[in-house]
Amino acid sequence: MAGPPPQFCPWCGTPIAFEAHEHEARHELFAEQARAEGNDPPPLPERVKEMLTGDSYVAACPGCRTISHVVGHRPPET
Ligand SMILES: [Zn+2]
Repeated sequence: MAGPPPQFCPWCGTPIAFEAHEHEARHELFAEQARAEGNDPPPLPERVKEMLTGDSYVAACPGCRTISHVVGHRPPET
């Protein structure tokens, strides 16, 4: 289980409710697009994949009108 999402806008501090956001495997999408264009992208380093993997949350702040995406990282498995 990942920790709870943040409760405040990271930009202006307004209390907002973050919602769990279906994570897009964006790196895979980019790789597919590159292959469609005839390129052969190298595989991503594990570190980058880990950075892109996690529970993500999204919230629109009514105070500063910024849409924030945050990614919560799971603690490493022991
Ligand atoms: Zn804000």
